[in-house]
Amino acid sequence: MSGPVISADVDTAAVRARPQSGVSEILDSRTANVGSIPVRRALPQRARRTVGAWCFFDHGGPLKAPAGVGGIGPHPHIGLQTVTWMLAGELLHRDSLGTEQTIRPGQLNLMTAAAGIVHAEEHTSDGRVELAQLWIAQPSATRDGPGEFEHYADLPEVDLGGGTATVLVGSLANATSPARRDTDHVGVELLVRSQLVVPADRAYEYVVVPMDAPVEVDGRLVGPGRLAYLGPGREELPVKAAEPARVILLGGVPFEEPILMWWNYVARTREEITAAHADWTQRRARFKIPDSQLAPIDVPPPLWAPPH
Ligand code: MN
Repeated sequence: MSGPVISADVDTAAVRARPQSGVSEILDSRTANVGSIPVRRALPQRARRTVGAWCFFDHGGPLKAPAGVGGIGPHPHIGLQTVTWMLAGELLHRDSLGTEQTIRPGQLNLMTAAAGIVHAEEHTSDGRVELAQLWIAQPSATRDGPGEFEHYADLPEVDLGGGTATVLVGSLANATSPARRDTDHVGVELLVRSQLVVPADRAYEYVVVPMDAPVEVDGRLVGPGRLAYLGPGREELPVKAAEPARVILLGGVPFEEPILMWWNYVARTREEITAAHADWTQRRARFKIPDSQLAPIDVPPPLWAPPH
């Protein structure tokens, strides 16, 4: 490029600070397979790596689980929390802390990986299985700490008039989930019957992901398999449905730490990921394999890693 660079007369800081209105991005999920479960992956996106500290969102299934044990075999995580929210069916969670926990619709599994954890998720009955599987990046303050597992059979619900909100993580209106939270974020399931207004936090950015039916978010139509992103500065999020719709709403203060994600790891540097890969591949003590009828999952090393 030659010639003078003309800068537009825009105060970008002022633009960022101004309350934003409307949906600023609608993005498509992409399809993948995790173990025996087909998924629609809404996060991460090339253009949208995180929403608050939320860094991963798979809508798994629905699938008709075959007889016998299937699911996702033992695999490691570092630097993140996994949120499991069943839409249908059940899964048996097993992890390296010794946890064995069956999860059913309406219940929450929250696993904190921190410096290292291994888990398996098995479907053991031959019914329908459908779930939302999400990750939250851990901040530097907690990501080197011990792993932890939490299960909640009851979560707070908020009546929003035209629908109901279940608070999985964080707070909405005056309801607060008991689940551990290392950053300032919220995760909610909305059952939208007609139309409702979700109270928003001006410091949060949000994403709205319909699971089973289209919804209108601030006047823009968003179908299942797509997500609507809304930037910070809002006090409310209007959501409208022509037919009853189940929607996942995620939000949070934009996560300022630059993260590096590779396979099941959320880190800061390639060296951390290379070390985790070596520890897992060589079955070192950091990653203890839980009892499972499924085989541990291995992957080739990251492309930047030297052979070991
Ligand atoms: Mn996992």
